[in-house]
Amino acid sequence: MANRNSTRAVRIGSITIGDHHPIAVQSMTATKTRDIDATVAQAEALVLAGADVVRIAVDSQQDALALKEIRRQTRANLSVDLQENYRLAEVVAPFVDKIRYNPGHLYHHQRQLSWKEKVRFLVQVARQHDCAMRIGVNCGSVDPEKRSQYPAEDSITPMLQSALEHCDWLDSLGFHRYCVSLKDSDPTKVVQVNQRFAAERPEVPLHLGVTEAGMPPEGILKTRVALEQLIGSGIGDTIRVSLTVPNSQKAEEITVGRQILADIAAGRVRSVVRFDPNALNIISCPSCSRVENEAFVELAQQVKAMTGYAKDHALTIAVMGCRVNGPGETDDADLGLWCGPNYVNLKRRSKTLGSFRYDEILPRLKQELDAFIAERQADNTDSGP
Ligand code: SF4
Repeated sequence: MANRNSTRAVRIGSITIGDHHPIAVQSMTATKTRDIDATVAQAEALVLAGADVVRIAVDSQQDALALKEIRRQTRANLSVDLQENYRLAEVVAPFVDKIRYNPGHLYHHQRQLSWKEKVRFLVQVARQHDCAMRIGVNCGSVDPEKRSQYPAEDSITPMLQSALEHCDWLDSLGFHRYCVSLKDSDPTKVVQVNQRFAAERPEVPLHLGVTEAGMPPEGILKTRVALEQLIGSGIGDTIRVSLTVPNSQKAEEITVGRQILADIAAGRVRSVVRFDPNALNIISCPSCSRVENEAFVELAQQVKAMTGYAKDHALTIAVMGCRVNGPGETDDADLGLWCGPNYVNLKRRSKTLGSFRYDEILPRLKQELDAFIAERQADNTDSGP
């Protein structure tokens, strides 16, 4: 394995990432945050499996209040995941060790304020409560202003530029206790965007992961392929393996992460494995407390089983658990499903086809998949020998 990049040390509770510390392994709870007992149990299960940091999503005052009690009952190093409601940081910061914000979600609330003012607020909160921060850029929710500056087919540069601009702003505020993540559901893009970031800001610790990697075993393989190439070349300070698994198996994200790290360290790599660009690609989010219906994981499994007949067609189907990231992160898939409490929304690329009950969605999806395959076949015939 190559020498690791010399990144800054960033302390997160009782652990430190960067500066040649061991690569930290983390995960995220998928229980409802306001269900204190279930969330504490899951956080403890993750710690037991070896989690260095446990992230918890907080979207409401009720979640924030629950976090106070969760903090009391778990020994985990906690990170809070903020999305649109960034002001909740001041409520939860006393109870966590790290604040994750997504630059692409800072636009929704208080539109009269610039993103810089909002980040300045987050930095004040982090400083006051001894928290580290993560600038978490995600392929499906890139800052719209950045996205509009580049051709639609270049999804990587807007992510990179968004991260770099936030790093510059945090640096100018004199705040250096942060790491960055640049996540995509395509492992190849994860490798490219992280390599480009590390070339520009080699001192900033990186949190690596393939978002919406999906179900095992494919989800593990996608993550492994990306991590082997990045960590194998010295890039990466903490990892998360995102898997669509039931709550009772969530600790698998940690055991799989540790196994991948051990394999890379021992040279047991399969970098020759490329995720097949000619096969059906199912991406699904790992679920978190925002999941709108418990049936989501089962639905993802059913989609995988039902679409088995199309495995040799180069199409992407995305299955997402909620409205926070679902609508945006299904845009690039050929067919996308994102779950509401009672209905599943079906999309064909960025176009919404409608909402369907959980017991209606699979046949409807099949209809669309068949149509896609028929169109591809007709195209191939037209352009034939
Ligand atoms: S899509 Fe929604 S439910 Fe799934 S991981 Fe993302 S935020 Fe959580």
